[in-house]
Amino acid sequence: VAHFPIEKIRADFPILDQEVNGRPLVYFDNAASTQKPRQVIEAIDQYYSTINSNVHRGVHHLSQKATDAFEASREIVRAHLNAAHSYEVLFTKGTTDSINLVASSLSQGLIKAGDEILVSHLEHHSNIVPWQMLCERTGAQLKVIPMNEKGELVMEDYRQLLNERTRLVAVNHISNALGTINPIAEMTRLAHEAGAWILVDGAQAVPHMKVDVQSLDVDFYCFSGHKLFGPTGIGVLYGKEAILEEMPPYQGGGEMIAEVTFAKTTYAGLPHKFEAGTPHIEGGIVLGTAIDYVNEIGLDAIGAYEQELLQYGTQLLKERFPDLRIFGEAEEKTSVISFLLGSIHPYDTGVILDKLGVAVRTGHHCTQPIMQHFGIPGTIRASFAFYNTKAEIDRLADALEKAQAMLS
Ligand code: PMP
Repeated sequence: VAHFPIEKIRADFPILDQEVNGRPLVYFDNAASTQKPRQVIEAIDQYYSTINSNVHRGVHHLSQKATDAFEASREIVRAHLNAAHSYEVLFTKGTTDSINLVASSLSQGLIKAGDEILVSHLEHHSNIVPWQMLCERTGAQLKVIPMNEKGELVMEDYRQLLNERTRLVAVNHISNALGTINPIAEMTRLAHEAGAWILVDGAQAVPHMKVDVQSLDVDFYCFSGHKLFGPTGIGVLYGKEAILEEMPPYQGGGEMIAEVTFAKTTYAGLPHKFEAGTPHIEGGIVLGTAIDYVNEIGLDAIGAYEQELLQYGTQLLKERFPDLRIFGEAEEKTSVISFLLGSIHPYDTGVILDKLGVAVRTGHHCTQPIMQHFGIPGTIRASFAFYNTKAEIDRLADALEKAQAMLS
């Protein structure tokens, strides 16, 4: 990318400017969680220093300010996802919470015994376990869309699995373990042809690409703030209005009601029906700041720059380590390199890399079925964000060389 302002960007992330174990930090664990620009850190300070108050109930000045900022952020998320209405954007605790909300609500009568749910082999545990729990509660059946050796979903098998009993397809947009980008528009079209809903786990997609829920035509889309350079404890569930209207509430409590008597309670309209209790107000507001920050750089530029990092890293590691195995070589993938080096254990490698100031993740990445598919206990995963550099990838390669010398 010709003019990617990497120096300026790095200066926005104070945490990157530090030494770990006597070496400049290289942070390659972005798929687990991302770092925060000072704009986000300052917005948190600003919120608590100036408008901290509970939302939606107060007549007083601060409460109205907080409510306005919270709702303005909902509008930022709406625009970012190109949702039709801001009330289709629900604030949750994160991707896991969003998926549990849908699974829990749908299990109250909308999915029944005999129905089928399709998940993919590429899913994070958070897009598997809630559906297994739903199946246990309802008697519905879970089916799995297989993947090939490159870590791509087998679309022919997907077509075959879809049938008139399929009620829901739950799939990630991008695999956190392998980086595979799934063909969501096509999968959605096929799901709808079969009369099924589709829920997309976008946790790994929103930091890397522009997502348009209307052009994808997905029924549900979920993501977490902390993977999008925002705070932890805040996330989003987008849902189409008609489905959200049909769905019963997830949790009961304050904020989600229209009227409560001991005889009967009626529920609030969207989005409040699904937002029981005091929300993560600061998180919701600051998520908007994080989205504004990313949009200022531009997701197209970010995506192009990260593809350069991915290609550079993949080529470099392959050249320097003949016994390196990369897991996940999909045609369409994001900036994740999941690998093993000879027969050395990923955990041991990770510990030595850390001693050399390089932060990677090792293990199964909450995707044990993927590891089972490849017959391995886990991988070393380097996942890049737009503030990473090729020089840092060189540092990774040097550190791996040292680790290999020490461990073999
Ligand atoms: N899905 C995917 C693809 C993920 O990468 C993650 C986080 N590793 C999750 C779901 C869960 O996100 P959270 O822990 O923020 O709820």
